[in-house]
Amino acid sequence: MYSFRTVSVMPELPERINRLSELSRNLWFSWRPRSQQLFSRVDRILWEKVGHNPVKFLLHVEGDKLKRAAEDPDYLAIYDLMMEFFDQYMRQESWFQRNFKDQSNQLVAYFSAEFGVHESNPVYSGGLGLLAGDHSKSASDLGIPFVGVGILYKQGYFCQKLNRDGWQEAHYSFMDFNEMTVTPAVHPNGEEVIISIQLPGRELYIKVWQLQVGRIVIYFLDADLAQNSLEDRSLTSKLYGGNHDTRISQEIILGIGGVKALRELGIAPTAWHINEGHAAFSILERVRELVQRGIPFHTACEAVRSCTIFTTHTPVPAGHDVFSSEMIDHYLGHMYEKLSIDRNTLIGMGWDDLRHGFNMTRLAMNNAIFTNGVSQLHGKVTKQMFAYLYKSIPLEEIPIYYVTNGVHTETWAAREMKELFEKYIGMDWMDNISDQSKWNKVYAIPDQELWDTHLVLKERMIKFVQNNLCARMERNFQPIELIRECAGYLSRDVLTIGFARRFATYKRANLLLRDKERLSRLLNNPERPVQIIFAGKAHPADRPGQEIIKQIYDLSKEEEFRGKIVLVENYDINVSRHLLQGVDVWLNTPRRPMEASGTSGQKAAVSGGINCSILDGWWPEAYNGENGFAIGTEIEYDTEETQDREDGNSLFDLLEQIIVPYYYRRVDGIPREWVSRMKNCLATIPWRFSTERMVKEYTRRFYLPAALKGRLYAAEGFRLAREMQEHKGFIRCNWHQVYFKGQRVEQPKELKLGDHIYIQTDVSLGPIKPTDVVVEVVYGNVGDHGLTNIMLMPLALMEELGDGVYRYETNLVLIQGTSGYTLRIRPHNSNFEYPFELPLVKWIDNI
Ligand SMILES: *Cc1c(COP(=O)(O)O)cnc(C)c1O
Repeated sequence: MYSFRTVSVMPELPERINRLSELSRNLWFSWRPRSQQLFSRVDRILWEKVGHNPVKFLLHVEGDKLKRAAEDPDYLAIYDLMMEFFDQYMRQESWFQRNFKDQSNQLVAYFSAEFGVHESNPVYSGGLGLLAGDHSKSASDLGIPFVGVGILYKQGYFCQKLNRDGWQEAHYSFMDFNEMTVTPAVHPNGEEVIISIQLPGRELYIKVWQLQVGRIVIYFLDADLAQNSLEDRSLTSKLYGGNHDTRISQEIILGIGGVKALRELGIAPTAWHINEGHAAFSILERVRELVQRGIPFHTACEAVRSCTIFTTHTPVPAGHDVFSSEMIDHYLGHMYEKLSIDRNTLIGMGWDDLRHGFNMTRLAMNNAIFTNGVSQLHGKVTKQMFAYLYKSIPLEEIPIYYVTNGVHTETWAAREMKELFEKYIGMDWMDNISDQSKWNKVYAIPDQELWDTHLVLKERMIKFVQNNLCARMERNFQPIELIRECAGYLSRDVLTIGFARRFATYKRANLLLRDKERLSRLLNNPERPVQIIFAGKAHPADRPGQEIIKQIYDLSKEEEFRGKIVLVENYDINVSRHLLQGVDVWLNTPRRPMEASGTSGQKAAVSGGINCSILDGWWPEAYNGENGFAIGTEIEYDTEETQDREDGNSLFDLLEQIIVPYYYRRVDGIPREWVSRMKNCLATIPWRFSTERMVKEYTRRFYLPAALKGRLYAAEGFRLAREMQEHKGFIRCNWHQVYFKGQRVEQPKELKLGDHIYIQTDVSLGPIKPTDVVVEVVYGNVGDHGLTNIMLMPLALMEELGDGVYRYETNLVLIQGTSGYTLRIRPHNSNFEYPFELPLVKWIDNI
């Protein structure tokens, strides 16, 4: 093709409202719906047409309309108010500043392959991206020193269109970044930031863009530059598109390119958060930087590890990216020399014996001081998945943690709901969202007011769905009669269930479709009807997922389900927001325990939507019997078929016997019990499942400890990193020499409360010093697989018996009831962040 240059010409904004341009480039507008009125009021149709993208809006809006707005006192009143809010937001003292005055020089870098901040920036596919977006927004609210790093996909994730037959079609369109809310990152001299990374046989040039999200910035990487070959330019074109080669290239761009981009910008993070394994190559680049500065490889690894945090999101091993060692050779062979290591050492950094390849999750876990899952249950599943790496360490002591996901409350709460919060909780309801006590005030909302608000939202949602359906039918040239009929689909007065999420098979969108007759009876009950709204995309390569879409589509065409089951196309943040704010019941049916957390139900709860969910992901932590509904029980099934059958039946029972009667039981026209459940939901869920709580937790538990550790390890030319690495090596090498030599236990025949058990033991430590180990009693409840609810009691060193043998003793007092106890030796060092930082242990053979 011929060459051309692209420029965008902005209209001149009337002086009086010229800060619209600034507002359009700060995603703060995305969680302040009233600020969006500053665009929609000028030209509502255009605002919808540009997909709520304010930059594009300003490029296309007619100057006259802006001029008129600038003279409209009502408009100006909103404008002034919003600008005041905006300035206040950007300037106000933050939670971080208040609580961590002396930590202002810390900086968290958060790497993620997707960011779902707003529908105008479609570089997300689902939960992972939405979480990253909400995480960033709360980081801004809380004033965390924070930068995000991601990829700016030219074609984003695909647009979903359903054809006449109900098959999903994936449409990709090229985004014009000049018309987006991102701007090129620039050097102080105004020059654009371009970096390069090495790919096999060539350099790849990457342009860096930035997105302002309130007070923080997300940097995005873009390979679509003229300096690159045509093929290379498309490396950053699609999210989760392409083959294994595209995938590893994207991950190299994100991980290695991301670190280089930050360096080029002069940004020096003190803690590095890897959100899912995609970004784990950042570790290699950071190690390389240190090796380049003359730090030995293993010391560099220890230093990098000390300030790295890794969050895993995938509860099934097959979901983790694994590359063959040949691919590592091909793509990262140039690193062997730069890191001064051989091939095996590098491949060993992420080697996975079970899957026989280089596993990105392993690379991240092996090199992160903190690893966490995203709900309590997922934390446990992750421990089980990696238990083989922590041989003979009890499951509950494996150092894999969890931080339960949340959502950015302000983004997801409907405007009308926020007004209720302002009225009944207080104007400052959004400050300190995670303060439980203030949410009790929702009980003061009069039933009528809450219910009326809900109905307003429900009507808006139904209108939105009707428009979505009509647009699809028009596009598919369907008869005008059908299109007209659509406008009458769904009723405000009917119990409405929403189900919208990625159509991955484990999410079982078709669980209710297993028994069509029963479903028909449920939906067509003349006194107590039910309607269901579905939405979601299936990955273009996921045929079974697409078949579920087709199955639902076909069903929605059948006479008895027409207008009662509807399928909304192109699930994105905009669709999601509408559905979540308007449905009565939010349905979630994953195959337990495949849903690491799930967050859409948390968003529904913010507007009083009642969750009806399998006890998977976040729901077991939230469900208290009064704030939603639980499908099935927390047991494990032998086969998927049994599980699906049981869960399906359980769901039908729940709907028929509880949910539907409940919903239709009215007193003075209001479903009092239902409204009471809505209030329970508002009082117990939003404060806890907010990213505000979540980001505070990350900050206190991981970011600050990691940043401090990183600094400590780096001091004096990485002295401590070197010492710790040598120390760990020494213990590892000599651990086989550690054993129990003998013991003496004196225990009264009959133990009464308060009696002692005297324990003495001799241990042989070889060359290891007694200060480098703990000898301890481990006691707790007796379970099927050993001890549970473990408690620890160290033994005191009494004397050195020579030849590396030491005598320890203690008096153990047990609590009432039956306990088990045993003895073990484990490594100890005051610099360990937690007991099994070095996952070695010696248990006594015979007690
Ligand atoms: C919240 C959200 C998700 C994630 O929801 P899950 O419950 O994890 O499936 C996916 N897509 C969009 C558009 C969302 O808003």
